[in-house]
Amino acid sequence: MQTQRVLDEFRNEPFTDFSKPENAKAMKAAIEQVRSELGREYPCLIDGEKITLETKFQSYNPANKDEVIGVFSETDEDLSLVEKAIDAATEAFKTWRFVPAAERAEYLFKISDIMRKRKHELSALMVLEVAKTWAEADGDTAEAIDFMEFYGREMLRWSQEQPITKIPGEDNSLEYIPLGVGAIIPPWNFPLAIMSGMTMAAVVAGNTVVLKPSSDSPTIAAKFIEIVEEAGLPKGVVNFLTGGPPTGEAMVTSPKTRFISFTGSKGVGLHINEEAAKTRPGQIWIKRVVAEMGGKDAIIVTDDADLESAAVGIVQAAYGFQGQKCSACSRLIVDEKVHDELLEKVIKLTEDLKVGQPTEGDTNVAAVINQRAFDKTLDYIKKGVAEGGEIVTGGTGDDSQGYFILPTIIDNVKPGDTIEQEEIFAPVLAVIKARDYDHALEIANGTEFGLTGSVYSASQERLDRARREFHVGNLYLNRKCTGALVGVHPFGGFNMSGTDSKAGGREYLLQFMQGKTISQKI
Ligand code: NAD
Repeated sequence: MQTQRVLDEFRNEPFTDFSKPENAKAMKAAIEQVRSELGREYPCLIDGEKITLETKFQSYNPANKDEVIGVFSETDEDLSLVEKAIDAATEAFKTWRFVPAAERAEYLFKISDIMRKRKHELSALMVLEVAKTWAEADGDTAEAIDFMEFYGREMLRWSQEQPITKIPGEDNSLEYIPLGVGAIIPPWNFPLAIMSGMTMAAVVAGNTVVLKPSSDSPTIAAKFIEIVEEAGLPKGVVNFLTGGPPTGEAMVTSPKTRFISFTGSKGVGLHINEEAAKTRPGQIWIKRVVAEMGGKDAIIVTDDADLESAAVGIVQAAYGFQGQKCSACSRLIVDEKVHDELLEKVIKLTEDLKVGQPTEGDTNVAAVINQRAFDKTLDYIKKGVAEGGEIVTGGTGDDSQGYFILPTIIDNVKPGDTIEQEEIFAPVLAVIKARDYDHALEIANGTEFGLTGSVYSASQERLDRARREFHVGNLYLNRKCTGALVGVHPFGGFNMSGTDSKAGGREYLLQFMQGKTISQKI
């Protein structure tokens, strides 16, 4: 393989401007093309071999729930495939770990080239499989490209000579070597970016993996696997299984799994962490767990803030991708002195959002992912009201065609209420009044999570206080709390939001490597 590519400095992939007619036309064409291929069956991939099982499951369009997107083998029905996939990864690790870092990185650059060429097609598939609007899908594809470009470059950096103290009489060095076989278990909400980023970060560091995507978004993962094959990655380096929790559990508990890279809900993450901590017969290492989990993210608005700009940021962060982002604003904590004025603006902007089919270019809010999410969200809304909240807009859903929930604002929520504490992961915003800034910070920090947060204030002193006291992994000042860019805003949260790692940051790859010190007497 050629490794002569001249690398520029990392730059984020630009977003597509769909207000330009030619881009809108290209996106429409991509949606039509993807639609014409719906319902195809996609195999598992183990050691380069395509495998199908008799028992199948399907993925559906959340906005048009009878539309089948892809058909998959249900590996939960045959867990021997998990062992087979881990064995294939174990075998491939014997050679992949010695492939020079520059050559491994080159595969990521090749994958990003292919993704860039097929950008609208990948985005269109996300429009149909997880009901992302055009802009959200385009952002997901751009982020996937960014992860390939960023982690490829990062591996080149980590493979250089590492600084250590020199002493006479010895030639000393520290190098980073891979861990082994990894279980990669991503969520459905960034079905291309997070899935491919988690997979290729581990792979570029020299590990081999078994990837099991969410059963809500397996088609986009299967497309990624096709791209990985097209890029010519050696067989067995990325193995692909399609199943649910039993498949994931078998990957986590295998004594041959060296590490687990998980992104998903708090409950599943904690369970995986516990299972991974148990030493099983034949296991000769302590498994490493990277777990990125949920959030209950807040935007604080102080009495001196620019309310116009705050309202725009709040609505974008609360309802982008139907509030189904770990970074989404689900709590608005507002100084009681500006509560009424701000809320009026937020309600107006929320009611202006167009709820509809994500295939239409002007839709702002589409369907939530599945029936479970739809039912759970309506239950949370009921609970919010039962605990004293007042629905000021939205509050209802319609699941006749897809899982649509109106952007909802619940006012008069109190600190400690269920919808103030638990992640809903839907277009529901809880509004909590604070007596003053001290109180606002106390409320903001008063959950078990610590992922993202924003403060809108005209006072630099208050913003500086937030820098010190607002305990979140990603803090934003006078801007919305979503939209982290790879390299620019390394992403990951504190406390129950995860294991304190930063995706798209400089230390991320270290989680998939271990340092080896070599001293030679001279
Ligand atoms: P989820 O926890 O339901 O599922 C995540 C993955 O875990 C899926 O692939 C699922 O099949 C698998 N899984 C489920 N049970 C398992 C088990 N027992 N053993 C092994 N694997 C198992 O999460 P989701 O609904 O797909 O994603 C939404 C969640 O992800 C939200 O909580 C969101 O906040 C979080 N999230 C966090 C980040 C972050 O960076 N912190 C990013 C995106 C999403």
